[in-house]
Amino acid sequence: MKKLDNASEPKDTANLPYYKSTGNEIDVFEHAHRNKLPVLLKGPTGSGKSRFVEFMAARLGLPLVSVSCHEETSAVDLLGRFLIKGSETIWQDGPLTRSIRMGAILYVDEIAEARPDVLVAIHPLTDYRREIYLDRKNESVSAPSSFMLVASYNPGYQRGWKELKPSTRQRFISMQFDYPNSKVEEEILFAETGVLLSIASQLVKLGQKIRNLTELGLIESCSTRLLVDAAKLITSGLPPRLACEVAIVQPLSDDRDTVQALKDIVSLMI
Ligand code: ADP
Repeated sequence: MKKLDNASEPKDTANLPYYKSTGNEIDVFEHAHRNKLPVLLKGPTGSGKSRFVEFMAARLGLPLVSVSCHEETSAVDLLGRFLIKGSETIWQDGPLTRSIRMGAILYVDEIAEARPDVLVAIHPLTDYRREIYLDRKNESVSAPSSFMLVASYNPGYQRGWKELKPSTRQRFISMQFDYPNSKVEEEILFAETGVLLSIASQLVKLGQKIRNLTELGLIESCSTRLLVDAAKLITSGLPPRLACEVAIVQPLSDDRDTVQALKDIVSLMI
């Protein structure tokens, strides 16, 4: 793959957030940015998507505006609204409009969870127009070349997640994220928490064991985030099994039998 000459080398690596690359995602992102293409990061929760975007924004020297979508998130929340202040009515930009004016990277987390009018509002941003229309103000806002739209999406192969329409998906370059291999995941645990490598290795094995136990029927499996949290608690002095129970077992399930099964696995492996 052709490397970019100017944007690819960060000016100050010491100030970049820690991100362990697992493939060619840095190159792909930089090429997408240069070509003004929006990017969709697909993958399970806690697999490093947000950290990657933070890292890329810092690497490109751009501000980052993040929005987490939920089922109530509407276009007005993102675009902006008129507010009454005393006797005056003033316009307040929403995060999407603000990020365009700033030429920032806009990260729309869990885009499929938002209301359909959000997708309608961002459509003109994802094609050659690269603009939004504020109908309440009758104003079009065009994105400067540094602006980039990045969205995340958790594919709906497990129950409880909304699907993203094919017509929306086709408006984005897409990158798949997944939990890293053991060696890389151990390295992340160590870099993030300073945990002993022997413990990092046990935690990673535990994570893999839980991910392979599909019969537990977990909505989301054991993410790198949960392993990092357990490693943090262990590093700060909490007994390892207790750390695993509160950071891994309890967040994964409310079902008594499943919790007991997970606790048994922890006792065996940690
Ligand atoms: P997502 O956005 O996919 O839900 P995050 O980016 O918030 O996940 O990742 C959760 C945590 O996992 C991060 O805070 C970080 O500690 C760790 N992590 C996961 N993948 C990586 C990676 N490739 N490099 C560095 N840290 C990572």
